[in-house]
Amino acid sequence: MNYIDPHIHMISRTTDDYQRMAYAGCAAISEPAFWAGFDRRTAEGFRDYFVHLTHVEPKRAAQFHIRHYSWLCINAKEAENVSLSREVIAMIPEFLKSPYVLGIGEIGLNKNTANEATVFQEHLDLAAKTNELILIHTPHLEDKYKGTRMIVDMLKNDRRVQPHRVCVDHVEEHTVRLALDNGFWCGMTLYPTTKCTPARAVDILEMVGTDRIMVNSAGDWGKSDPLSVPELIQEMKRRGHPEAAIKKVVYDNPLEFWRQSNNWREWPTQ
Ligand SMILES: [Zn+2]
Repeated sequence: MNYIDPHIHMISRTTDDYQRMAYAGCAAISEPAFWAGFDRRTAEGFRDYFVHLTHVEPKRAAQFHIRHYSWLCINAKEAENVSLSREVIAMIPEFLKSPYVLGIGEIGLNKNTANEATVFQEHLDLAAKTNELILIHTPHLEDKYKGTRMIVDMLKNDRRVQPHRVCVDHVEEHTVRLALDNGFWCGMTLYPTTKCTPARAVDILEMVGTDRIMVNSAGDWGKSDPLSVPELIQEMKRRGHPEAAIKKVVYDNPLEFWRQSNNWREWPTQ
């Protein structure tokens, strides 16, 4: 079955990973801007990164007939530096016309600090002014519920935000309803240990249904598996879920969300 991985950091992965993903049926991916494995000292460091996301990775993916899209922002981890964040936010519009940029992301909170919240709201302002889709990172483990609550409150406080044009990512059992009940899309991250295992993600799908929900590997520098979406497909098959329901989660839903992007150009889909 063909699938889409809507959240994976290919800058941290090898070309062999692209090849294995292609063999497993990966048709397209999107790569949110995030922490690149080290703190960047200048806005120019981010410019190099944005060029990499918008030019280098699409070419690397195309060798394996995988479509590569990206999202731009300064991530929550580096957003603690507000003046640097403002320089980066000011630079983003020049990249938004790149044909494979889907929107602003992954913005959010890391340690739920006041500086992170300020930078998050300034990204919302940029997204509103440029009419971009928004992809949201929610914090890990013990910070997750509080951080997700703070994020949903900030989204609701900005009347320009249209919930159906926002995806709240890394949801788990205790945050999935916060996202869905407020009209947002949501993503579940399949990690081998922390976040959701494929089995937990299928449990959640059985609880909340398959509307406005997608899954991703969030493959990155840490212990993660770029083939975890195919693993979820196997788990859904094992439990007897119909093919159409599986395809909706791993293919149709991310595509439906992406299609709202300003730069979207249709391609032959299955
Ligand atoms: Zn990420």
